[in-house]
Amino acid sequence: MKKIADKVKEFTRAREVQALGLYPYFREIESEQGTTVTMDGKPVLMMGSNNYLGLTNHPEVKEAAKKAIDNYGTGCAGSRFLNGTLSIHRECEEVLADFMGAEAALVFSTGLMSNTGSIPHLVPRNGYLVTDKMDHASILDATRLAFGKTIKFAHNDMADLEAKLSRLEPDRNKLIIIDGVFSMEGDIAPLPDMLEVADKYGAEILVDDAHAIGVLGPGGRGTAAHFDVSDRVLGTVGTFSKSLASIGGFLASSEDVIHFLKHHSRHLIFSASPPPASMASVIKAVEIIKREPERIERLWQLTDYLRTNLENAGFNIGVCETPIIPVYVGDDMKVFNACMMLQQEGVFVNPVISPAVPPEHALIRLSLMSTLTEEQLDFAVEKLIKVGKELEFIPQPEPTATEK
Ligand code: PMP
Repeated sequence: MKKIADKVKEFTRAREVQALGLYPYFREIESEQGTTVTMDGKPVLMMGSNNYLGLTNHPEVKEAAKKAIDNYGTGCAGSRFLNGTLSIHRECEEVLADFMGAEAALVFSTGLMSNTGSIPHLVPRNGYLVTDKMDHASILDATRLAFGKTIKFAHNDMADLEAKLSRLEPDRNKLIIIDGVFSMEGDIAPLPDMLEVADKYGAEILVDDAHAIGVLGPGGRGTAAHFDVSDRVLGTVGTFSKSLASIGGFLASSEDVIHFLKHHSRHLIFSASPPPASMASVIKAVEIIKREPERIERLWQLTDYLRTNLENAGFNIGVCETPIIPVYVGDDMKVFNACMMLQQEGVFVNPVISPAVPPEHALIRLSLMSTLTEEQLDFAVEKLIKVGKELEFIPQPEPTATEK
């Protein structure tokens, strides 16, 4: 038997890409995450941040975080369950519940833990977890921790969802878990149609709105609010690492669901609570989102602007509905190459390859911040055209149904 210490050496793929100088991961940023960041001492246009509303480096948010450190210190030295609940956690939960129009909210130390810390506990041993094939990795991890059986349906395919639900034991709990806005391709889950199917089979729906909070729906209240069906979903998961300018996450739901999880969630009970500076950042971010709705408007203006310019330039951007804009490139190596060439040209973009997307549908993921300017987007498109022509990913064929 090969020892683990030797077995790990069999993983050579990343080293091969590193040797080619095309490795696009763990790239160091030497500045705060504004529209321009510093890399290798040089300015680079940031077209790959989830800081959708530009609040991560907002002076008021930074000030609130500093104040919280002065008041509460840097950490909580315990879990929410025991010594780690601060008054600012409760305050943050009240602010989030109010913002989401929910009875209650519960904060977790990351967005990922908001899924893994709630989903497995909500579904009983004989129940079903029903997931979209393109759901985020943290939902997949949550299903692995659950005792119930996991069933997957084809991406945003309501006929397949119905086919799968119709085969399940009728009197057992069924929880459908979906991304409201899909994190890699930026398309929106068809929640009203899904609710119709779910109701028919007695299923409930939990929405992971990591990419929808602060982006979609009235005042940025997410996918269920966007479709005006907030009272028909079991709950909404959110993260603080995108529009809410920090790290951590939450579940907004009924008071009963939150009370149940407070006494069952292992990731809540056995892991330290999120730091006070994060809570203060979120409270301030929500205040700014409510006070300055023009930030969200601007984000959508920029989305339309970039989408139109990319389409006009001949890029294949698939079903692009949100400030996450995929540019389909083809294979993994071409994506790596494109990312590194774009960085050389002064533009930061993220690579997305299999298994995050189906093989051969590798893409460059652009994501927008409301603080970007049209001039900056023009610069990004100019560089994308240059690299796209060199690597021959414009023009591209239309995406197939499975890509959509
Ligand atoms: N859910 C979705 C849909 C996400 O995109 C992410 C982060 N990319 C998470 C959950 C996890 O959030 P966090 O980074 O805060 O752990």
